[in-house]
Amino acid sequence: MKVALFDIDGTLLWTKGAGRRAMERALAANIGTSGPADHRYDGKTDRQIVREAMRHEGFADAEVDARMERVMANYVAELTVELERDDHGVELLPGVLELLDALEKRDDVVLGLLTGNVVHGAECKLRCVGIEFARFPVGAFGSDGEHRHDLPAIARDRASAHIGRPVRGDACVIIGDTPSDVACGRGIGARAIAVATGHYDVASLEACNPHAVFPDLTDTMAIVRAIVDA
Ligand SMILES: [Mg+2]
Repeated sequence: MKVALFDIDGTLLWTKGAGRRAMERALAANIGTSGPADHRYDGKTDRQIVREAMRHEGFADAEVDARMERVMANYVAELTVELERDDHGVELLPGVLELLDALEKRDDVVLGLLTGNVVHGAECKLRCVGIEFARFPVGAFGSDGEHRHDLPAIARDRASAHIGRPVRGDACVIIGDTPSDVACGRGIGARAIAVATGHYDVASLEACNPHAVFPDLTDTMAIVRAIVDA
């Protein structure tokens, strides 16, 4: 049994800046600035992005903690507005639907999500590209932990609860587009499959030593095999 844990942004879809615009507006409404223009969001959890932006503006961690839930609520509201715009242009990445269909048909794979998005953000983004959130019976989200490396153990425990027996860490396969996706599961012995549809190319992902790297998710059979054999 393998638990295939998919990242969202840069792996399943691109929001074409909608997520960033929503975060910048939530930050501006709460701290008076949208944060540094060169602030990288990829590979990070939503709360980690907020903390980094607020620290950059000189906020102490206690103040960040005090404001966090409000910023996140504003962010989800802004994200919903952004994604409902007719011109949002959210893009489903190639091969994703075929891969999800192929994995779903197998009885030795459980589908899951492992993403820095808070759960409501994850749900909104997937709905926007026509992927039903309920297709992923297992998930660990940015609302479960501020650091990505805390999420794999949560996903493993939820997978165990879902299938009714203990799931080992090395039965978890994390599929994502950044070095953080590749590294985050090492603590539980999870495998990683990197996909170069985000800001990192095949060579830079290979340098992180994942189980496998793919340029995109179009080679359905090869990716299914990599997940099952991981
Ligand atoms: Mg990503």
